[in-house]
Amino acid sequence: MEFTLSTVALARTPFREKFGIPRQAGLVPVRGRIDMLPPWDQPEALNGLEQVSHIWLDFIFHQNPSKPEQLSVRPPRLGGNRRLGVFATRASFRPNRLGASLVKLEAVCVEAGNVHLEVSGIDLLDGTPIVDIKPYLPYADRIDDAVNAIAPAAPVPTLAVDWQAQALLACRACLQELGYVGGLSGDGLCEIEQQVMQLVALDPRPAYKQSSCGTYAMSVFGLNVRWVMQTPTQASISDVSLA
Ligand code: SAH
Repeated sequence: MEFTLSTVALARTPFREKFGIPRQAGLVPVRGRIDMLPPWDQPEALNGLEQVSHIWLDFIFHQNPSKPEQLSVRPPRLGGNRRLGVFATRASFRPNRLGASLVKLEAVCVEAGNVHLEVSGIDLLDGTPIVDIKPYLPYADRIDDAVNAIAPAAPVPTLAVDWQAQALLACRACLQELGYVGGLSGDGLCEIEQQVMQLVALDPRPAYKQSSCGTYAMSVFGLNVRWVMQTPTQASISDVSLA
């Protein structure tokens, strides 16, 4: 049997490229927006959703090949050198390219009669097509004694991250240019700067590069962020420019 899916919404996120996106939802509280598409952009389609704290986004890994043929994959989480059956993993190369992300629903907004959702903890590329949205149902979806021995716990941030003084100044200037308004917290950083550090700390580099030094870059929040590996576990953000 073949089925046809249609896009009900588009994810608008700060991630313009795959490199740097957390490997699961909820790891960094990055904000995103779900723009509903007609006819699903009418308040009637989302009536009641404001009573729910978290939602499942069913989406298409649209930037991956449409017919991946491997039966097994090498998850980055396992160092990229152990093969597992595609159905034993949440790998993005999978039949039908369907993904599911559990995100926090921050707000249901109606503007000029059209609805969009504000969410956080998102792990999707900007422009990802959403094919369904469902409320998280704690009594059915939360299982206290659940086990996944392949990935027993959330990945802990593996890198210590600091800002070089001129990179932080450059970041401030770029954010000002982008019209970002947000206060500074106790550590003197705004939310975006804190999240940049959290994204780098999760070490987006492929496992085979994790022992090497060098400079890396990612495009996020409209910024090009560069960092230098000072030691295998110490990253220093060295430059920020407008993407
Ligand atoms: N929570 C989802 C996704 C996990 S994979 C699930 O379990 O199904 C998450 C990774 O998918 C991200 O790190 C990013 O590299 C990749 N990704 C996100 N959006 C994508 C898209 N639209 N196309 C291809 N890959 C994408």
